[in-house]
Amino acid sequence: MKLFNSLTQKIEEFSPIKKGQVLLYTCGPTVYDHVHIGNLRTYVFEDTLRRALKATGYGVKHVMNITDIEDKIFARANQTNQDFKILTAKYEKIFLKDISKIRIDLHESKLIRASQAITEMQELIRQIPNRYIEDDGVYFDIGNYKDYGRFVTLDRSHQHHRINNDEYDKEHVADFALWKAKKPDEPSWDFKIDGKNIEGRPGWHIECSAMSVKYLGQPFDIHTGGVDLKFPHHENEIAQSRAATGKELASFFVHAEHLLVDGRKMSKSLNNFLTLEDVIAKGFDPIALRLLFLQAHYRSQLNFTWDSIGAAQTNLKSLQAFADLRFQTQPGATSTPDDYFTEQQESILADLSNDLATPTALAKLDKIIDLVGSSGVDPTRTLNQLNQFLEFLDLVFGLELLKSNDITPEQKQLITKREEARVSKNWAKADELRQQLKSQKIELNDTELGPIWYRA
Ligand SMILES: [Zn+2]
Repeated sequence: MKLFNSLTQKIEEFSPIKKGQVLLYTCGPTVYDHVHIGNLRTYVFEDTLRRALKATGYGVKHVMNITDIEDKIFARANQTNQDFKILTAKYEKIFLKDISKIRIDLHESKLIRASQAITEMQELIRQIPNRYIEDDGVYFDIGNYKDYGRFVTLDRSHQHHRINNDEYDKEHVADFALWKAKKPDEPSWDFKIDGKNIEGRPGWHIECSAMSVKYLGQPFDIHTGGVDLKFPHHENEIAQSRAATGKELASFFVHAEHLLVDGRKMSKSLNNFLTLEDVIAKGFDPIALRLLFLQAHYRSQLNFTWDSIGAAQTNLKSLQAFADLRFQTQPGATSTPDDYFTEQQESILADLSNDLATPTALAKLDKIIDLVGSSGVDPTRTLNQLNQFLEFLDLVFGLELLKSNDITPEQKQLITKREEARVSKNWAKADELRQQLKSQKIELNDTELGPIWYRA
């Protein structure tokens, strides 16, 4: 598997530290609001990476965190006058629903909340030699850490003294908070350090450093996230973990690019902040959104428009019609060569192993659909291979092509009768039967192999 490593800015051959087992960490959501479709794009990329690693034969140990302690959470809880635990529980639930609607498979993944790893965070902070204590918390001294600036070029001449916020841009580079002293109306935990008790809570960056290593060890193989997390989040994660242990945090950092909406970055003020619910409310299938994401390479910006998801939904329909060919075999169909599907599967897997080239793989699929659609499916020669191929596609792309059922015997009979009417040139009867099928959302395509049905 080849992957673009943000640490080296190069495509590198990936091999795991432990043979056969990949240790993968992904930064999860901060649960104070709905995630937007840009976040979902990153999660779909991570899900696809996990699927591709499994399809190439690796075991994958995957950890995703749920950030339930963070600045924005407490701000929102105070604004809305509710306990932060009620707020985070609500949005964690919504997040998990969205994830399952877009077919992100977390059933083998470990989900961990920040509030469940406070002890590990405190232990990690104690191990960091270049830390210092101020009235408002414990800070990481970047002046005493040589390797700061792995993901961004920093102009240290304007370096600020220190920053307490979790999010800031590189123009505000400063010593950052590992632990924040208790503020009014915020929950807090005791923290014994250097003979003192600093009541407070962890900073966001230390959370991921501690949670990843708790389950994966250090170093682990791949750390993923959206490009917006490179600085300061991942930069600070690396600095803390390396300062504490002298070891790398992860061998690979892999980042997914932004999703734009109508050519602009998503924001609440531009009114282009879209959630999965907005997409569903417009009549689109969440799987069509998933397909739209896969049609772009994860390292390219993707511009979401209502037209683009419309096109993806049409494309999904043709993939589903392709899968429905398994219900309509024709004995003696010209059929595809014996090793055709095996070759196609290998070729698609090779694309995925090449830095997750999903657009190339999906373009191949369009050609396969054309060929199989025109050569037909023979029940003895091709059917098994087609079923196996569809199983493989579902495994790597998660589009659930094998979920559909066959049409009913009554519907099949209508198709047969309509074909008889057509052959005997009884056009009125043929048309009437076609309309009847249409009212049941079944369309017909007359081919050299006979009529092929598909769902409208
Ligand atoms: Zn993180």
